[in-house]
Amino acid sequence: MTAYPTVKMLIGGEWIADGGAGAMPVINPATEEILGQCPKASTEQLDAALAAADEGFAVWSNMTGIERYNILRRGAQILRERAPEIARVITAEMGKPNAQAQPEVVVSGDVIDFLAEEAKRQGGRLVPPRSANLLSQMVTHEPVGPSVLLTPWNFPVNLAARKLGGALAAGCSVILKPAEDTPASAQLLVECLVEGGLPDGVINCVYGDPGPVSEYLIASPITRKISFTGSTAVGKHLGALAAQGMKRFTPELGGHAPVIVGESADFDRTVAACVAGKFRNAGQVCVSPTRFVVARGIFDKFVAEFANLSAKVSVGDAGVDPSVGMGPLAHDRRITAMQAVLDDLDGGPNGEIVTGGSAIEGSGYFFQPTVVANPSPTSRLMTQEPFGPIAGIVPYDTVEDAVQIANSLRYGLAAYAFTGSLDESHYLGRKLRAGMVAINHFAVSSPETPFGGVGDSGFGSESGVEGYLGYTETKLITVAKSAP
Ligand code: NAD
Repeated sequence: MTAYPTVKMLIGGEWIADGGAGAMPVINPATEEILGQCPKASTEQLDAALAAADEGFAVWSNMTGIERYNILRRGAQILRERAPEIARVITAEMGKPNAQAQPEVVVSGDVIDFLAEEAKRQGGRLVPPRSANLLSQMVTHEPVGPSVLLTPWNFPVNLAARKLGGALAAGCSVILKPAEDTPASAQLLVECLVEGGLPDGVINCVYGDPGPVSEYLIASPITRKISFTGSTAVGKHLGALAAQGMKRFTPELGGHAPVIVGESADFDRTVAACVAGKFRNAGQVCVSPTRFVVARGIFDKFVAEFANLSAKVSVGDAGVDPSVGMGPLAHDRRITAMQAVLDDLDGGPNGEIVTGGSAIEGSGYFFQPTVVANPSPTSRLMTQEPFGPIAGIVPYDTVEDAVQIANSLRYGLAAYAFTGSLDESHYLGRKLRAGMVAINHFAVSSPETPFGGVGDSGFGSESGVEGYLGYTETKLITVAKSAP
């Protein structure tokens, strides 16, 4: 067993366990036991972190891309080496099985590697001048400045790594504010990057009540960019605050991903993939498949097999039983949220629970894998992101109808389809309104490809080249002859 680490903030190179504004307990969601205490930063500590980030930016942004690459690459390697230990902390803090936590850590190292390499590649471009008097027109990418990174609990290492990798590779200093539910997972990532050789002040990490802390950091004149992953409602609020200071803002928000299943899809493989995708991380994934839109000819068979496989998903404390397929929800608020989604159904025209449907009694925030057939298009399940282990399944008659159902919400993060038809693959790839469309699989996240949404799911991308450029500002430098 990995001992739960003492949770500490990092400010200007100093690790600090005492929060000036007190502390809050960190709970193991599988047992409801207190793992440790998370310090809450005082205003003075936030000011110190801002001042450190300001000084860190002056140092870090003056280093060459290859110097930044070398340091980040070392940090990424240390992260991969510590993956087993860090994965155990992720499982303790938010409940996901080791088989999901350990790859999360390893791929986070790969994300940082890829973004660090962009520091060697993104040199800008030369534009041919219109006039012979002009010697050069250079377009450069300069680091935006000190960045505030606000990350959630569902992928506590990976979502922080995407933001840290892009910001640090581009030459920005950072203040990371991880979710209060999973502080140690993020802290261990920060430790690895510090060990890799980041100068003091370049990376700072604070905790506290998310609203007041975020608002204070966003309002500071030192902060030049904010990146947030979380709910649409909070994202809109923080975006409005960022706009007041005309600061760059990247929101990666909620989703309600549709999955269109056509009659030509390989049935067995598709249902198995849909169940595995739905209950990964107990459905607490922004790109989780949620609204299954299935061709009427295979609808009944699909519902029956989906429910059959869902009922076989083993639910339990993944920290003690490695065979567990789905852990608890991250905190008790998610249980309340699941119940609210199901209370909205009426067992008739508004949807029928085919399997699951309730919290599991005993300690821990466990909920049954739940399948609902025929929820109405206006039900809470089909209109609001459930962010938990509930799937809604509805039939469609034509592929155009399926696209209309899929595109009917303001969310637009991920969309999926399963089909054996090449024509349909291309049609759906073009017509589905989402930042990411995957046909015949569910993998929309890799270090090399952009991850982001449209509409109420946010804007901008993380990972890929875009994940680096999002922390840069475009500048034109043009030079004319000094004399005719
Ligand atoms: P929540 O809104 O209480 O918290 C979600 C996250 O947002 C946490 O990390 C929290 O620290 C942060 N947060 C909350 N209020 C904030 C504020 N005023 N300012 C800055 N940050 C704030 O909800 P929850 O029950 O913990 O999570 C469920 C909801 O959050 C879901 O509906 C989902 O949309 C969203 N969420 C999304 C992602 C994602 O990957 N996009 C991840 C986690 C949570």
